[in-house]
Amino acid sequence: MALLEIRDVSRRFGDLLALDQVSLSIEAGEFFTLLGPSGCGKTTLLRLIAGFDEPDAGSLWLDGAPLAGIPPERRPVHTVFQSYALFPHMTVAQNVAFPLRMAGAMPDELRERVRATLAQVHLEDKDRAYPHELSGGQKQRVALARGLVGKPRVLLLDEPLGALDAKLRLEMQIELIRLQREVGVTFVFVTHAQVEALALSHRIAVMNAGRIEQVDEPDRLYTAPANRFVTDFIGTSNFMAAEVLPAGRSQDRDQLHLKLCGLGEILAPGMGIAAGTHGSFAIRPEHVRVIGPDHVPELRNHFSGRVRELLYRGDVTVYRIQLGDNGTEKTIEALMANSAPGRARFFEPGQTVQVCWRQDAGLFLHE
Ligand code: ATP
Repeated sequence: MALLEIRDVSRRFGDLLALDQVSLSIEAGEFFTLLGPSGCGKTTLLRLIAGFDEPDAGSLWLDGAPLAGIPPERRPVHTVFQSYALFPHMTVAQNVAFPLRMAGAMPDELRERVRATLAQVHLEDKDRAYPHELSGGQKQRVALARGLVGKPRVLLLDEPLGALDAKLRLEMQIELIRLQREVGVTFVFVTHAQVEALALSHRIAVMNAGRIEQVDEPDRLYTAPANRFVTDFIGTSNFMAAEVLPAGRSQDRDQLHLKLCGLGEILAPGMGIAAGTHGSFAIRPEHVRVIGPDHVPELRNHFSGRVRELLYRGDVTVYRIQLGDNGTEKTIEALMANSAPGRARFFEPGQTVQVCWRQDAGLFLHE
């Protein structure tokens, strides 16, 4: 049995169904992330696990025992908030010691646990400092130490990196991965930042409007999204209206033959979908290659187009390319890595180009 079981949990606020029959199993030692847009129900679910709120229907189980009716302080669960929630008049050591003191720990044990936990977050030399003397990243480490000091079974982290600037955020991501691996505590992490979720998690639950859309490992979510919402929410995709055509030549039978509305025919991964089915074809910008107009494309899926604009980002350049004729234009994005030193702009706005992609790239999504 999983460490934490969430079974058919619903939570309603007036007319709003904030959680709609959510079921999840979270394993011991997992770094598990709840990912979704603002208002999808992530914090509501976290509050139910912590015991700050109770579900209207369904049940939560920890280690095979129901959590219903157990108050937050008696659950082996701790929460780390984005705001840190440190006590300003207490030193770092006193802040970290607080949960143990509340639980009635003996002074020797308390001192030793605080010392060991501060060492885990690399703050052993800051034990006498006050919160106002610390940087944002250091305050976040104190909050993590306070969450871990009581050795919870589950540590809940509600957008803990949200208040940090981009560079520090990256550093703290690496810290969180290390820390979780070292302490082995199950982390349930909440974020709406998909890149962060992909970088940190063993598994991710993508949520939308109170429901779970998909639960998977990061690379599975990115390469095999279950539906349009997940495809759109994780990473970037170009979407094109498409219709399945009858299977073509026999060597193409293990592929889908698609007609892209206003553009032409392509081969795409997938099989067994009836001819005439309408939907959309999604392809990631990094899978679209841009080549010059006179280049003979070695890839079967190719169209000519014109560069509308480009966005230079340093490591990559994003090209927005208009495909199709008047009336059926379609703009798609192609992302090219600037991997050769010194070269960053291969094509200029207004230039005629071709785009192409491999026939195992992209995804057909039913309507
Ligand atoms: P964010 O990323 O913005 O924090 P979230 O995914 O955590 O969003 P929740 O905070 O769980 O979303 O909220 C889900 C929905 O439930 C929202 O529409 C929110 O307004 C509503 N909601 C949450 N708590 C309450 C409450 N106590 N009373 C009324 N509505 C609530």
